Amino acid sequence: MTDNAYIKKLVRDEIRALSAYHVPNPGNATKLDAMENPYQFPPELVEQWLAVLNGADLNRYPDPSAQALKQQLRNAMHIPDNMDCLLGNGSDEIIQIIIMALAKSGAVVMAPEPTFVMYRMIATFCNVAYAGVPLQGDFSLDMPAMRKAIKQHQPAVIFLAWPNNPTGNLFDEADVIEIIKSAPGLVVVDEAYTSFAEVSFMDKLADYQNLVVMRTVSKSGLAGLRLGYLAGSPEWLNEFDKVRMPYNINILTQLSAKFALEHVDVLDEQAAKLRAARSDLMQSLNEINAIDAFDSAANFILFRLDNASDVFACLKQQNILIKNLDPVGGALVNCLRVTVSTPEENKAFLLALKSCLA
Ligand SMILES: *Cc1c(COP(=O)(O)O)cnc(C)c1O
Repeated sequence: MTDNAYIKKLVRDEIRALSAYHVPNPGNATKLDAMENPYQFPPELVEQWLAVLNGADLNRYPDPSAQALKQQLRNAMHIPDNMDCLLGNGSDEIIQIIIMALAKSGAVVMAPEPTFVMYRMIATFCNVAYAGVPLQGDFSLDMPAMRKAIKQHQPAVIFLAWPNNPTGNLFDEADVIEIIKSAPGLVVVDEAYTSFAEVSFMDKLADYQNLVVMRTVSKSGLAGLRLGYLAGSPEWLNEFDKVRMPYNINILTQLSAKFALEHVDVLDEQAAKLRAARSDLMQSLNEINAIDAFDSAANFILFRLDNASDVFACLKQQNILIKNLDPVGGALVNCLRVTVSTPEENKAFLLALKSCLA
């Protein structure tokens, strides 16, 4: 056999059929494609942070349970006292931990679609079936379809991104609660954008045995650290913790995130600036006739326009990188997604956009 034939024989068909998650190289473009926070820590805090890192023992393994960081997360993020907290190398790793733990033969992972693509991808990596349930035209939950799909598939876990990515909307809270109540398995409310939505299911954890709340620090200004966290009952998290790789949170992340969360007021101020910038950007987009912008509770805005892929390419020519969702098709045909940034970057984006539409 040639090497290629060995690979074909050995690698699972589902994996060979995948294309690797494509992250474009931004070069020196204005980066408005990945929901990063454009703001940095003030210089005096950077000095203090570097002093903390100076004490890191790089020759030692990190604290396997990251106790100090967890305690600081509890304080800063108001995790209820009777709930546990599990950390992941980004919330992507937490999605993987949950699906691996629930990957019994015949298990189904479910999510409304379009949504965060990693739910489907990680289910595929773990050899678990995935059922996507289309959202309605306005991206709200199609409850009759959800009820039917839950009954049919009996999903081991349902992921609900709240607010949803890439659409930006918050699903109706009563609908989410109905899903939690009727689900035969676990429901993960993914609150990656909680600092821009200012709502949460964290205070409802005690009400529902099958609810866990997942978050990340990525969208709030710390994407480079790779840190996600899951809050939920000790019964669930004890099981998930068995699947977690030891030392999954490295020492630089533990120290840096703890330091950043001691100054969570800085992150909160940045989030407030971005929320204000979101309204301004939304208003400007609404003033453009050719554009249909969708309401957003997150730090990005999805909008629809004719010839979206051409406009995306034209923006790229002008060194502005946003996300083209047109190739995804379905409900996202002719849709682009832009990350809300500083007033300056938002203005540069709008200027370029208008020139592309002219
Ligand atoms: C960005 C995003 C994540 C991934 O976050 P990381 O912690 O950076 O892995 C999870 N869920 C949703 C809905 C997201 O948009």
